Amino acid sequence: MEFAEFAARAEEMAEESGDLATTDLVSDLLRDAVEDLPIVVRFLQGRVYPAWDAMTLDVGPALVHESIARAAGPNVDADDVETKLADIGEIGAVAGSYDFGGQRGLDAFTDADSEALTVASVDERLREIATTTGDGSEKRRLDTLFGLFNSASSSEATFLARLVLGEMRIGVGEGTVRDAIAAAFLEARDGDDVDGDHVDGGDATDVDSDDATDEGSDDATEEGSDDATENESPVYAVERALQVSNDYGMVARVAREEGRAGLEEIGLEVGRPVQAMLAQAGSATEAIDEWGEAVVETKFDGARVQVHADGESVSLFSRNMDDVTDPLPEVVEFVERAVDVPVVLDGEVVAVADDGSPLPFQEVLRRFRRKYDVERMRDEVRVELRAFDCLHVDGEDLLDAPLHERHERLRQLLGGTDAFAEPAVSSDPDEIAALEEEALEAGHEGIMLKEPESTYAPGKRGRNWLKRKPNVETLDLVVTGAEWGEGRRANLLGTFLLSARVDGAGEHSTKNGSAAERDGYATLGKVATGITDEKLESLSERLEPHIEHESGQTVSIAPEVVFEVGYEEIQGSPTYESGYALRFPRFIGVREDKTAADADSLDRVARLADAQ
Ligand code: AMP
Repeated sequence: MEFAEFAARAEEMAEESGDLATTDLVSDLLRDAVEDLPIVVRFLQGRVYPAWDAMTLDVGPALVHESIARAAGPNVDADDVETKLADIGEIGAVAGSYDFGGQRGLDAFTDADSEALTVASVDERLREIATTTGDGSEKRRLDTLFGLFNSASSSEATFLARLVLGEMRIGVGEGTVRDAIAAAFLEARDGDDVDGDHVDGGDATDVDSDDATDEGSDDATEEGSDDATENESPVYAVERALQVSNDYGMVARVAREEGRAGLEEIGLEVGRPVQAMLAQAGSATEAIDEWGEAVVETKFDGARVQVHADGESVSLFSRNMDDVTDPLPEVVEFVERAVDVPVVLDGEVVAVADDGSPLPFQEVLRRFRRKYDVERMRDEVRVELRAFDCLHVDGEDLLDAPLHERHERLRQLLGGTDAFAEPAVSSDPDEIAALEEEALEAGHEGIMLKEPESTYAPGKRGRNWLKRKPNVETLDLVVTGAEWGEGRRANLLGTFLLSARVDGAGEHSTKNGSAAERDGYATLGKVATGITDEKLESLSERLEPHIEHESGQTVSIAPEVVFEVGYEEIQGSPTYESGYALRFPRFIGVREDKTAADADSLDRVARLADAQ
């Protein structure tokens, strides 16, 4: 395909404002691209290399300005181009504003003016630029880019400049390309008797993988449910192949040549990163309600890493699939030592203290993308791998295997090393709360809850992985009652009734009406979780002097002692006087520095409940 044709189509796309119409324009272009299909698909996205490839064009604005100036003639220099850019605001329009052509000066391009640029020749020259290194490479890069501009028409120059700088400005996102691939090669055409299946035309389930940062960005497909019809749509087949391969050009070619069946065959390739599966926020009760039981893993406070080992060398990729092998040599060395078959592992890189305890996430960042001083930093911040998933072992893809099987594989590979933490399985919210407490006490970020039967869904932020982080907000509540324990805890107070302070009790009513609150305190819940036997003893000693009444197991206690408690959620509830109840409250400690008058007020509880 001639580059002029590509530029004309791109111009049409830029002028089209409707999503569906744009998708149609793209799918027409893909059908017409013939042998240039992979290149055209990448060019539409402002790319020369696929997203997973560590190779990049790496041409900066200065080189582009200089090349444009040279092609524009002896009266134009890079400063003029920059002045114009400041005026017009966009490099494509600047490039398109010059009348190129007729410039001689390079032997290599003496005939260039008469030769039309093609998509393939532009691709070839740009790859030449990307691989030109060493002495004099800047000049050779400049010569090659100048040669391209020198042969370009106004519209070609516009899209060449944008392509080189990676921003096409034609309103074609990843979702549009995905839909267009499906429409061009998998869906029935007009006049066929099978209905095409179109996922609402736009970027609704777009996977936006070009986040600026790896960490904490919300960048994935929100997955409502695993809807069978959705999974059968051609768009789904394309999306899945993209998530596994991150290669739009290859996926388009396979869709055209081998159809859906071919796409389904696209598997993992060691060395080519897969999009990371992500988590939604969720609670233990939700997990148990939905799955019966949950796999409970530690949520490590580090940076996501995907490990690819081919048996000889190890590569590490970030959550955005950038190559982070070089900054993390001890992770590479560990994998080389521990694993002798090809594998793809998913995990977290954490910074650890000398005693192996986790350090805050900020410490990992000092190592994660470092280009210089890697060895020096290695002495300052020690990093280690914590693997939590296994996507491939020795020729076998495990994306569609259930989590418990993937864990088993991981155990076989890394069991007994610090890189593998044995996950728990539980159907008991209290047990999960205790595991969470343990994880937090050990300095981790919290826990992850995962559906034991779930497959690995690349790029999805689905309901099969739920992240439980502790609530940042805790409450300081007054103990106004307790219950004696049972068995060996019979002489210890076990469960504690908690109350919030009611400001100006009497005037100020609680959510359930002002009737029940006692002495300016309204009950909110009971806490029994998170307390060791030893702690129970000291709490009993601390509270016994304040017992006012006893009736059977239950005692009421004068409001004197303040507990700090964490919780999963504040719910409206008819059970307690305040009208609220804490879901999964857990004991954090006694606020020795606070009196009952300093405890949190019901107003604050109401505000926190509203803010949830
Ligand atoms: P968030 O960044 O808060 O959305 O939490 C998801 C991130 O937690 C993942 O992308 C991982 O980097 C990290 N993480 C830590 N431990 C785990 C684990 N056991 N399973 C999955 N993700 C984990």
